[in-house]
Amino acid sequence: MKSAFRWVAAATLVLCSSASAWPADLANEHQAKLIKNVDAYSARMSEVALQIWSAPELGYLETKTSALLQAELKAAGFAIETGVAGMPTAFVARAGTSDGPVIAILAEIDALPGLSQAATPERKPIANANQDAGHACGHHLFGAGAVAAAIAVKAWLEETGTKGQGRVYGTPAEEGGGGKVYMVRAGLYKDVDVTLYWHPADANNASQDRNLANTSAKFRFRGQAAHAAAAPDRGRSALDGVEAMNFMVNYMREHVPQDVRIHYVITNGGAAPNVVPEFAESYYYVRHPDPRVVADVFERIKKAAEGAALGTGTTVDYEMINGVYSTLPNDVLGRLMDANLRRVGAPAWTGEEMSFAEKLAKTLAGRNLPPLSSASEIRPYRFNGQKYSSTDSGDVSWVTPLATLNTATWVPGTSAHTWQATAAGGTSIGIKGAVVAAKTLALTVAQLTASPELIAAAKAEFDKSRGPGFVYKPLIGGRPPPLDYRKTSSGSVADPG
Ligand SMILES: [Zn+2]
Ligand SMILES: [Zn+2]
Repeated sequence: MKSAFRWVAAATLVLCSSASAWPADLANEHQAKLIKNVDAYSARMSEVALQIWSAPELGYLETKTSALLQAELKAAGFAIETGVAGMPTAFVARAGTSDGPVIAILAEIDALPGLSQAATPERKPIANANQDAGHACGHHLFGAGAVAAAIAVKAWLEETGTKGQGRVYGTPAEEGGGGKVYMVRAGLYKDVDVTLYWHPADANNASQDRNLANTSAKFRFRGQAAHAAAAPDRGRSALDGVEAMNFMVNYMREHVPQDVRIHYVITNGGAAPNVVPEFAESYYYVRHPDPRVVADVFERIKKAAEGAALGTGTTVDYEMINGVYSTLPNDVLGRLMDANLRRVGAPAWTGEEMSFAEKLAKTLAGRNLPPLSSASEIRPYRFNGQKYSSTDSGDVSWVTPLATLNTATWVPGTSAHTWQATAAGGTSIGIKGAVVAAKTLALTVAQLTASPELIAAAKAEFDKSRGPGFVYKPLIGGRPPPLDYRKTSSGSVADPG
């Protein structure tokens, strides 16, 4: 372990002093092969991404999207295992040899309800059957870009006779369904050495940050209905149970670790004031950077619910809705990804793309928007910054070293989950960002596959970050994947990150 860390320090020095000469750099001809392989597939990648963008599918309902990505991988010679971990749209695709490192790339695929939009710089929803879904988080690019990278790596493995396996994990329902958590729980990452992914964004960077672990659950109180004026003594109010629980939890806020976030809404508080509510429901989130703190605080919230039921003469049970770990960042992998991103370079926009961006930027709210020119720059590398969002990639990062990458697929200043993100993602701006991501991922996967010492260094850091004796326990417990969480027409958005 000691020597691995010495190596990291040396690599850092090298990076600062010159752009070349990583100890485990791929030879230029190998890099050129990988770039060429992505370029050879990029026209098809664009078709695949735009086809998915045109027919957006919500979490766990990504039937056509998943089938299309699987078909691309199958045509390129990957072996496909589909319907894994009890999720019909989840898959694992494998290529290469079984006697080398196993590097996985994640592919998210789901869209968001209510964010349909044409590829225009002004608001123009397009009606569709799936709750007016749209790819406002860019997962059509995410999935197609991951597939492009994997296909390029497979060709390189064969061209060079390098031993190792490249995989694509088709991970459904990132937007609240927690698909990756079920894949981790099913042990699908057990033999993976390193996992990489990317995410569409409004800027280019390979920074590796922490975020928040998150658990969400619905608490359901049951009491006794009665006439609220004529026979209140015969009633037991389920709403009283909800309110007593909230009261206790709000006092608890003073006595929880710094950075705990607790939020709730009352999703059912009864139907009429003159009826003692026999049913009431609240929906809670608990977040903190450390998943173990989230689990502890959630146990105390359960106690508050039990106490509330006891005191109000009601009963309570709860359903775990979602639970994700925070992301454990990896500096060794982050620096590799950053170096490769700088090799590939930021996307370059044409005059036509720039004028689309200028028009769209006029619709963005807020002050201090980044300049449009920032889409053609790469931000400085940052490690271990604190973000206050949550994602199901977090669980993956506690069972295998994980690193991410952002590329500019949206106009600078665009937030995820907006119509502006859907719009740019349907144009060549989105495609160019995905090509940069595919090349960066392909170079990084290949570099790792060819360099056992890099994998060893990433794993040493990973072991140290997790701490000794770590055992992965999913925050969702034993619940099955919520395959129908998007099937309601009420637009129920369980856990949007
Ligand atoms: Zn999202
Ligand atoms: Zn996303």
